[in-house]
Amino acid sequence: MTISLLIAALTVAFPREGAKLPFVERCYLIGSVPPGITNVMVQGRPATVHSLGGWVAMADLTVGSNSVSVTSVGRSFPSTQEVKRVLYVAPKPSVSSSIASAVKKYNKLDFAGDEPKQHPVNSKSVMPVAVIDPGHGGPSDMGAVSPHSLPEKDANLRLSKIVAKELEKRGWRVVLTRTNDVAISLFDRPKVAHRENADVFVSIHHNAPPFDKDPREFRYHCVYAWNDIGKSVAARVNAKMAAALAEKVKNNGVLHANYAVTRNPEIPSCLIEIDFITVPEGELDSWNRQRQELLSVAIADGLDEWRRNP
Ligand SMILES: [Zn+2]
Repeated sequence: MTISLLIAALTVAFPREGAKLPFVERCYLIGSVPPGITNVMVQGRPATVHSLGGWVAMADLTVGSNSVSVTSVGRSFPSTQEVKRVLYVAPKPSVSSSIASAVKKYNKLDFAGDEPKQHPVNSKSVMPVAVIDPGHGGPSDMGAVSPHSLPEKDANLRLSKIVAKELEKRGWRVVLTRTNDVAISLFDRPKVAHRENADVFVSIHHNAPPFDKDPREFRYHCVYAWNDIGKSVAARVNAKMAAALAEKVKNNGVLHANYAVTRNPEIPSCLIEIDFITVPEGELDSWNRQRQELLSVAIADGLDEWRRNP
């Protein structure tokens, strides 16, 4: 009994046990301890511990073994508690394979036409249709994970439902690509927008940095789009988000992205990265209901403005 409680006390949320990593020389680790514990050590160096117990550290993976030890000593621990992580790191890619991946080109969605459709959004008398896509889902696609092991897929779904309610209040018809924790392939998501003859497609995500970058240095929001019709929506939404999150989260603006869910020649599409849930402060904000309400109003304001002036 005592032993199982102790094991639950110090957790590593990322990387998961036995995680396979691409070639990296260092990797971030995040996890949690009960509030009040401040002494978390990763490879013998202190981790940054937030007041609510989330912690962040960088592990060096160039020292031979990829086994990383995490220890903690604190009020509720009778002695040093150690958790070991064994990480599998892929071999360094050859120069030729990295060149091959750099020139890889993607085409538009194969089920989409070549021209933007005439949407009812251009006619003020017809109810506009938004497809909101909560990113990830299902048992094998969690998305990013927060220090307290809260998966991005849940944060995306929760916010998407609040955005949907806000848009419905304003006269939009809204279709969610998923309403519970199910897996949907990336290519099936924009198909929902085609099936519903949607005016706009918005994918909602929470961010995580690359494995070898320090999460403490990453905190921004941004909106990705692929073509001009997508960037037009993205710009309106981004401006409203920037005003809502002013001073709290940096604005990285509208960025180009060749994603399956943005590569849509017919239906204006964008992907919103709300915040980074890998840092304790970002995690807290991502699960804060008041901030979700604030963001849903900002996203709906952006879509309304785009509708008035596409
Ligand atoms: Zn995501």
